[in-house]
Amino acid sequence: MWSIKNMDLEDTLLMMPGPVSVAPRVLRAMSKPMINHRSAEFAGIYTDCRGILADVFQTKNDIFLLSGSGTAGMEAAVGSVAGSGEKVIAIENGKFGERFKDLAALYAELVPLEFEWGLPVDLEKVKEKLEEGAKAITLVHNETSAGIMNPAAEIGKLAKKYDALFIMDGVTSLGGDEVKVDEWGVDIAIVGSQKCFAAPPGMAAVSVSEKAFEAMNCMKKRLYYNDLKAYKKSGDKPRPETPYTPAIPLFYALQEALHIVKEEGMEARIKRHRTLSEAVRAAAGALNIEMFPQLNEYSQYSNTITALKSPAGIDGEDIKNDMKKRGVIIAGGQERLKSKIFRIGNMGNVTARDVLSTIQQLEIVLH
Ligand code: PLP
Repeated sequence: MWSIKNMDLEDTLLMMPGPVSVAPRVLRAMSKPMINHRSAEFAGIYTDCRGILADVFQTKNDIFLLSGSGTAGMEAAVGSVAGSGEKVIAIENGKFGERFKDLAALYAELVPLEFEWGLPVDLEKVKEKLEEGAKAITLVHNETSAGIMNPAAEIGKLAKKYDALFIMDGVTSLGGDEVKVDEWGVDIAIVGSQKCFAAPPGMAAVSVSEKAFEAMNCMKKRLYYNDLKAYKKSGDKPRPETPYTPAIPLFYALQEALHIVKEEGMEARIKRHRTLSEAVRAAAGALNIEMFPQLNEYSQYSNTITALKSPAGIDGEDIKNDMKKRGVIIAGGQERLKSKIFRIGNMGNVTARDVLSTIQQLEIVLH
């Protein structure tokens, strides 16, 4: 009979791009008793989380916590500001850029701007599209599927110049790498709890600018559950709350995880993520494994996930499966990249020892 013991959960090293390992104190936080979500106690937790997140996002914008994964935040963003069929330019150079494209096609008038997955965004092409006019432009900052970082600051500048809202998926950069929401002019930034914050999955945090709220006021058609205007109304109350019953245990966990982030300090946390991803890249080089994407000046390698080419004659899925047998969970390639690449994450509270163990096992698996 199946038992959770079969999974050897305690012994497994999660080196995938989320969910990531969660600290015992975060797990324990989830077992606290339930509280009224329309109470001073809940308002206190919500306010605490929003304050820490504002520091991490480097923003003065409002921040809301949605009970739902990162995709809920992406849908809330696109649907709330362009849900009446407004033009949205969706930049795609990986799976999550494609997701924005799908959301824009569903709620807005999609203007696709597609690049080969893993290839850099061409800023000239972005400019050309923006010149034609659009309500919003979407970008995935850290494209997890390809292991690359997209030029958020540059896109923010262009969006401002052409008066488009800048919606940025920071799902796998926020909390692990530098993100400057206000400086970059990000109107809506999105993150998921299970990535660099090392909380359990199921929560999304979204920051929203005044300009984005103004756009929401003109919407003829609204979302219901994830309507960010509704989040603003509830969040602005003297005792802040969420419009609907939130996932209280996940709030407990996120609050604890955010305290860990605060205790480490973002500067140290970013440095750790950068050092560890550099270590993965250096180790891959030493093992003669090529980086997956070929980059130019408009992109850089991600500091939270490394995408590697499967060596000739070896299927990336086999590498992933063999690593699992050795107690290390890494990720394969997604969709069109399946088998061709494999990915090693270093998000959250990953240590140098975790990276070294992963590389050690990878060396055994490959040789
Ligand atoms: N955006 C990026 C960059 C991601 O890496 C992911 C998940 O891996 C998502 C969005 C979707 O997040 P979720 O699975 O939490 O809905």
